[in-house]
Amino acid sequence: MSTVTYTPIALPACFICNDGFHPVDLPAKRIVCGHCICPVCADQLLVRGSACPSKCRGNVAIRPREVRTLHVSITATTEDDDEEAALSVRLLIDVKYCNR
Ligand SMILES: [Zn+2]
Ligand SMILES: [Zn+2]
Repeated sequence: MSTVTYTPIALPACFICNDGFHPVDLPAKRIVCGHCICPVCADQLLVRGSACPSKCRGNVAIRPREVRTLHVSITATTEDDDEEAALSVRLLIDVKYCNR
């Protein structure tokens, strides 16, 4: 008898509002300093002319061209693939963009 245990996998979340990213509904945005935030928070920062809330670059305001959407694609074919797909997204974002 074999048992397969899945650890629930959470997608990375916006460090400002803590909303989990979703490849379609809430795509991650990477700002110039390397932090990943959600589109809602990115818009607010741009509208207010604010700097990254973590003050990692001091008080330098973020400019629109310094906000990049992370292109993440998920190709889940069955429900069983969802966990793996979420894991790939997580790894993609963590490894390529958020590791500092
Ligand atoms: Zn956010
Ligand atoms: Zn930052």
